[in-house]
Amino acid sequence: MIRKGMKLYSILFGVCPKCHQESMYQNKNPYVLSEVIKMRESCSHCHTKYQIEPSFFYGSMYVSYAVGIAFAVAAFIISYNILEFSLMIAFISIIGTLIVFAPIIMRLSRNIWINIFMSYDKELASKGSEKQS
Ligand SMILES: [Zn+2]
Repeated sequence: MIRKGMKLYSILFGVCPKCHQESMYQNKNPYVLSEVIKMRESCSHCHTKYQIEPSFFYGSMYVSYAVGIAFAVAAFIISYNILEFSLMIAFISIIGTLIVFAPIIMRLSRNIWINIFMSYDKELASKGSEKQS
């Protein structure tokens, strides 16, 4: 259902927003905490520069606010409405969720942010794979 060429693919997997060929991050695993936000400078397939302008990714903080709320609401619904825990436990689970998922929230918001400004480019993507073969 989710495949290359869809914005959601780049957002979920953190791949280059233009060619979807490789990860934007130096370390694919977001839980290597020292490398959560270490990104490559540009894509080795299509040579897209990720940092469009200096401190481009500061804007992703607005997105992370929204993503954080989405995670908090999900945590609340699951613990309070579905698992029927008390209100107190539900709030603790919100805090726990935000801490545990912080690296993912940070990356998701960067991915969403860059995908607002860039879109998948079929030609760039196929050029990249030609070079590979
Ligand atoms: Zn690329």
